Amino acid sequence: MRPNYTRPNHRLVPTCLAAISLAAGLAACGGVEDPAGAVVETDTHRFEEVAPGVYFILGTGTIFVQSNAMLVLSDEDALVVDSHVTPAAARALLASIAEVTDKPVTHLVNTHYHFDHAHGNQVFPEDVAIIGHEFTREMLMSDVLKQGTYLNFSGAIPDQIAAWKEQAGAMEDGEEKEALMEQIVAQEDHYVALGETAPTPPNVTLTNRMTIHRTWEGQDRPIEVIHLGRGHTGGDVVVLLPNERIVFTGDLVLPGGSAYIGDGYVNEWLDTLDRFQELEFDLVLPGHNEAFRDVSTQLGLLRDMLSSFWNDAVSARDQGLSAEEAISTIEWQGFLATAPDPIKIQCVERAWAVMDETGGSNDTDSA
Ligand SMILES: [Zn+2]
Repeated sequence: MRPNYTRPNHRLVPTCLAAISLAAGLAACGGVEDPAGAVVETDTHRFEEVAPGVYFILGTGTIFVQSNAMLVLSDEDALVVDSHVTPAAARALLASIAEVTDKPVTHLVNTHYHFDHAHGNQVFPEDVAIIGHEFTREMLMSDVLKQGTYLNFSGAIPDQIAAWKEQAGAMEDGEEKEALMEQIVAQEDHYVALGETAPTPPNVTLTNRMTIHRTWEGQDRPIEVIHLGRGHTGGDVVVLLPNERIVFTGDLVLPGGSAYIGDGYVNEWLDTLDRFQELEFDLVLPGHNEAFRDVSTQLGLLRDMLSSFWNDAVSARDQGLSAEEAISTIEWQGFLATAPDPIKIQCVERAWAVMDETGGSNDTDSA
């Protein structure tokens, strides 16, 4: 299908049914309010040009992509940030990119190792440099398909599909039901597509930061890949375009106080956010949900969520509760409020493990 070029002058209506989705906090819906440039739609993706030759990429819902991505063009080539959740989703991403540009994709950055950002890596051609933190490589070389985060999320899919089907069965015919039916089909396809995954690690790694030096229309366009400290995982990086004042954050910074914390270093995350706030940018492109410019508001919500969870986890531990007991004492926020119990249990167990590791159970000053 030929791309469709439009220039919107209104707020985008999300194409996913975020409110009813397990993946609510993890859905690839949203968009940029008043993107600076063109909007290109393919069968599977929506490209919002946020600066000349820089695109925020969202799924349209016809295929389950689960995370946002970014495309940065230069005079000679193209760089992609994050590869979506399955090889099938990444193949659709590459096909869509080919509709937007004929420049070759030479670099892929993984913001972190999580399945929904990195399990499309394997379909990128072998000569593509896959860049990530050393920790990201280490994790993607381990048996991630047998670990809690992947198992808890993928294991919840059949129940989710069944719940949606039940919900659809009770709905009147109409647009909303049609959208839900489309989502069910996309999710069933996704569940099958998971079987093809062969986790593929970055082949270029960094520990602190690196810069890819490029030009755009003859002007410098440096692309900075920066690790600000542990947070959402042990090896998150953000991708900063200093000249365009745009940053793609993966899951280190998400809007609405909604983030997955089951592999996090919640107490250190707050310090990492302080360092994030020292970077110079105007527009944040997050790994899920909508782009935003109200940085201090959104960081405030995220900080509140992290602090509140950490303090609740400390109290539950002090009371000697089991993780199963603890989850009902915690004030869950964001998408975790409606997440299945195994995901919540993992978040609690993770927080307690971090407390054991760092001896920081009472370190609520930083949290
Ligand atoms: Zn993540």
